[in-house]
Amino acid sequence: MSTVTAELIDALAFAAHKHRDQRRKDAQASPYINHPIALLRVLAVEARVTDRLALLGALLHDTVEDTQTTEAELAEQFGADVAAVVMEVTDDTTQPKARRKELQVEHAPHLSRAARLVKLADKTCNLRDMAVHPPVGWPLERRREYFDWAVRVVAGLRGTHAGLEALFDQAAAGRP
Ligand code: NDP
Ligand code: ZN
Repeated sequence: MSTVTAELIDALAFAAHKHRDQRRKDAQASPYINHPIALLRVLAVEARVTDRLALLGALLHDTVEDTQTTEAELAEQFGADVAAVVMEVTDDTTQPKARRKELQVEHAPHLSRAARLVKLADKTCNLRDMAVHPPVGWPLERRREYFDWAVRVVAGLRGTHAGLEALFDQAAAGRP
């Protein structure tokens, strides 16, 4: 397993604080922070990724999109390079939901390597959740559409990390 660093622990504490009032959409209303932790597990433990930017980016990836966190705040706490990775995986919330999903497909091939690693882990974790602990009230067809969209996003991320892509493919094989 890769080395656990002080800045990783600090990023985990930072994200836990930022997401403190949020829950996942599953029936158990899981603590939101379990999702960034799941990305870290996939990257560091399952895929043996050691890239500092990817591991920090994974823990912080939803802070700007889903909380009041700003890029400047991340840059001050963790450095401009880490903040830039988080911004790369942050949707433009001024766009309508359907457009945001298409933009993810279009942007995927242009992301930095660290951002591609974070995206691969994020889609893997969301498909695992979608198969086992899906969002409350999502009919089968909506869950299937989510799988199909994630596969389209990941098509633009291929050639980044074979082991991670294999983990995604295993998750995608769980399409309901
Ligand atoms: P959301 O983006 O709102 O929900 C999916 C996201 O929720 C995931 O990407 C993940 O994001 C997060 N999430 C939280 N809990 C879970 C969990 N337990 N399992 C998996 N993911 C979880 O919804 P959609 O992706 O569906 O986006 C909305 C789109 O859906 C629109 O384009 C709209 O047109 C369409 N739509 C379709 C309907 C249908 O029945 N087919 C009905 C309504 C809308 P993160 O990693 O960021 O936390
Ligand atoms: Zn996420």
